[in-house]
Parts: sequence; C-alpha cells; structure tokens
Amino acid sequence: MKSFAGIFENINGLVVAKACLEIFIIFLLIYLVLRVLQGTRGEGTLRALAFIIVIAAITFLFFVRKLNLYSVEWILREFIPVFILPIIILFQQEFRRAVVRLGHNSFFRLFFKQSATVTTEIIKSIISMSNNKIGGLIAIERESGLDSYTEGAVKINADVTSDLIKSIFWPNSPLHDGAIIIREQKIVAASCLFPLSESSDIAQEYGTRHRAGIGLTEETDAISIIISEETGRISIANKGLQTNGHLEEKDLVNVLNDLMIGGNLKKYVKH
Ligand code: ATP
Ligand code: MG
Repeated sequence: MKSFAGIFENINGLVVAKACLEIFIIFLLIYLVLRVLQGTRGEGTLRALAFIIVIAAITFLFFVRKLNLYSVEWILREFIPVFILPIIILFQQEFRRAVVRLGHNSFFRLFFKQSATVTTEIIKSIISMSNNKIGGLIAIERESGLDSYTEGAVKINADVTSDLIKSIFWPNSPLHDGAIIIREQKIVAASCLFPLSESSDIAQEYGTRHRAGIGLTEETDAISIIISEETGRISIANKGLQTNGHLEEKDLVNVLNDLMIGGNLKKYVKH
C-alpha cells in the first residue's frame, strides 16, 4: 500500500497549480457573492455556509479527485444538488435583497426604470408638500427590515405615487400623523412611529418629527426624508446624520440618488 507522502509525490506541479487556480476561482466567486449579500440579515449564516463550501471544495479537489476516490466523489456529486434547493428556499429573502441591491447599483439601475419612477414620485410629493407647508416623514427601507415599525401602523401596500403621499399627509387626514414607509415600489404603511433620537447634536428648533426621522436612521440603514410643517424645509437623515438647511430640488435628487447606491450623507452635512 502506498504511503500518504508517496501519494503526494505522484501529484505533479501542474496538477497542484491547476488545483490552486480552481480554489482561487471558488474563493473569488464566494467573495463576490458575499459582497453582494453584505448587509442582509442572513449574513452571518451565509458566511458560515460559504466557509463550509470552501472546506468542502478543498476536500473535494485535493483528496477526492486527485486521489481518485471514486465513491466519495460519487456521493458528493449525487448529494450536493439535493442541498441546493433547500438552501435557495432558506435564503430566498437574502437572495431577493441581493437582487434589490444590484438594482440600486448605478449600472444596473439603467435596467430598473421603475425604481427611478418611484424616486421621481417621492421627490414630486416632497416639493409640493414643502411649498404648501405640509409636514411629513418618509422612510425608505434599505437592507434593514422596517417591519417592526409597521406593527400597530396602518398597512397600505400601494404603488408609490405623489398624489397618494400628499393625500396621506394632508392635514387632518386620518393617517397624516406619523411616518410612511416605502419598500421598493410600494408604500407599505402609514402612521408609523419611530424612536426619537436623543442626540444632543440636534438643534432645539427641531421637534419630534425630525427626532423621529433621525432616530430611525440611528437604528437602521433607512433613509428618512423630513418635511417641516413650520418652515417647509426639506431635510434628509441617514445613519444618524441630518442635512442642515433646506434642500433644493436639485440637491434633493443628488443626495437621494447617492444614498440609494450606498453613498454617505456626511459630505452633504455642512459644519
Ligand atoms: P415641524 O417642523 O413639522 O413642526 P418638528 O420636528 O418641529 O416638525 P413637531 O412639531 O413635534 O416636530 O411635529 C409633530 C409631528 O411629528 C406629529 O404630528 C407627528 O406627525 C410627527 N411625529 C411625532 N413623533 C413621531 C414619531 N415618534 N414617529 C413618527 N412621527 C412622529
Ligand atoms: Mg414643530
């Protein structure tokens, strides 16, 4: 019987180089998948899964194929596909978010005309509300789910249109108090209550609407748009920061589009 070391002597340099290349390609693919999935809820589990896949791939490449362990190879080949479907079902939410994330990418956005329409409708409503001094708070969901804030709120699930947003915030409308949440193409809920920020950096002139808008972004990666009833001023908050001063339509478009593709609000906050 061949010794363990003896087996390795038979593997020539070219085979090893090929195996290394294969491992590199697998690592690269997994890295790219993880980059896309980064920030989704199942990230930790997915990392563990990726780690197991890498170990399995190394075992498969080095010990199974190179040493001609046909029966082990057969078992792996037959059973790996069986696990693929449950994995897809288990992580369907994460895969869906990954696709949405791709949709936010500036290159892929060219193919997702609909999300551009959503942004246009949101901006149209904000400008009109600002001109008419109608207060409002709009949260746009990103990677962190905002479901916990829709509990106890009024579920809407309607397409995003400027008219609907304005109707919701119209003074004395039954739903005008609180915030609306937008998820992808839909207004999912109205009259949502967010946690108030306790930050001492927020100026006295800002009341609960602004503190709620900022508070949400301290706990999630959502984007908050706040329209002041008192001044008509439009502000945007993200990751605990808030723009200062009124945002004109042009800036509003720039800031929103930038945040949608993962940009940082910091550069728009004047000191
Ligand atoms: P504005 O500039 O419009 O006056 P503000 O920051 O001064 O805003 P308030 O005057 O206190 O804030 O606004 C009160 C409104 O803010 C409420 O009528 C309600 O619609 C909204 N609001 C208050 N608390 C919350 C909360 N926790 N979550 C969501 N919306 C809230
Ligand atoms: Mg006020």
